[in-house]
Amino acid sequence: MADKKRILTGDRPTGRLHLGHYVGSIENRLRLQDEYECYFIIADLHTLTTKPRKDDIDALRSFVSEMVADYLAVGIDPGRSTIYLQSAVHAVYEMNLFFEMLVTLPRLTRLPSIKDMARAANFEDEAIPLGLIGYPVLQAADILMPRAHLVPVGKENESHVEITREIARRFNTYYGEVFPVPEVLIGDVPILVGTDGQAKMSKSLDNAIYLSDDEKTVDNKVRGMYTDPKRVRADIPGTVEGNPVFAYHDAFNPDKDEVEDLKTRYREGKVGDVEVKQKLSRCLDNFLEPIRDRRSDIVAQSGYVEHVIYEGTQRVQEIAHQTVTDMKKAMGLAGLWNRISRKGRDYAKKVAPSS
Ligand code: ATP
Ligand code: MG
Repeated sequence: MADKKRILTGDRPTGRLHLGHYVGSIENRLRLQDEYECYFIIADLHTLTTKPRKDDIDALRSFVSEMVADYLAVGIDPGRSTIYLQSAVHAVYEMNLFFEMLVTLPRLTRLPSIKDMARAANFEDEAIPLGLIGYPVLQAADILMPRAHLVPVGKENESHVEITREIARRFNTYYGEVFPVPEVLIGDVPILVGTDGQAKMSKSLDNAIYLSDDEKTVDNKVRGMYTDPKRVRADIPGTVEGNPVFAYHDAFNPDKDEVEDLKTRYREGKVGDVEVKQKLSRCLDNFLEPIRDRRSDIVAQSGYVEHVIYEGTQRVQEIAHQTVTDMKKAMGLAGLWNRISRKGRDYAKKVAPSS
């Protein structure tokens, strides 16, 4: 275990997990769970960057439980991997501050991903909080806390991991080798489109199919999915490229021959959208059924999810403390304080030797 390389990734607890999370990042987490020592962060502090109000924080309680129930249901195994709550790991707050000194403001404000998040949260340019601009810096603290080597995320997060790499390199240059420079790992589907045809399936955009959706909900969402708008009748040749229904078939239909046959017939105007969608619903159900079953077993065990988070967070608190201690040692801050406290204690003994 000790010589395994480490993974860090995770999600903001803003709701349940969806198919986009699965193909973007979770599939890789499951695949690499044995090969790597894995840390999965419940990034509640990151939620504050767009949702800082008391109501938003109160809502975290149920979102955290839902999300971790999803993790366990898809097969993240707390016996092998560590799931933890970001806000309970105080050393990361310190790391965040040190890292803020190692990146420039223009480097952060130029990132399109931050602008996208600001737009999704309805922030005017003038109203973007400093914390949102600093999102990638806090993410660097999360990733470097367990000295991760690999970060499986969706494509839209790649630029953030690049910031982490720059911060790690700069820290190592200034203070000596403390951190590995982590690699990013993008999922097989770099960004899954939304059911409405928008570029990204996202909780905030209300265009998601959730891992915990029941059969009827999935069926309704698939029926309502955006397809080729030119195709008002089934005998009109349709476009497969960029069509979300086919993007989902590619991602979730294990029968590749069926997918090819549907695509050929669609292009020739020889299959209706209804049939293509019915087949998709069936595939998604086959995929989601075992996840739903495991999820209901997990949710039935009151306190189990919290137990998993508690154990994982305790483990991480120790690791994070060690990392920040090593950082301060490398930076010379530990030495500064040690010297002051030694001299301060010596002085107290000199002036009041009996006490
Ligand atoms: P929010 O709307 O609250 O930002 P989100 O649905 O965008 O939520 P995040 O918590 O921001 O989800 O993302 C968690 C992880 O899942 C990240 O690694 C992200 O890249 C990945 N991810 C999210 N949505 C998709 C998607 N549609 N396709 C591929 N990867 C995705
Ligand atoms: Mg997001």
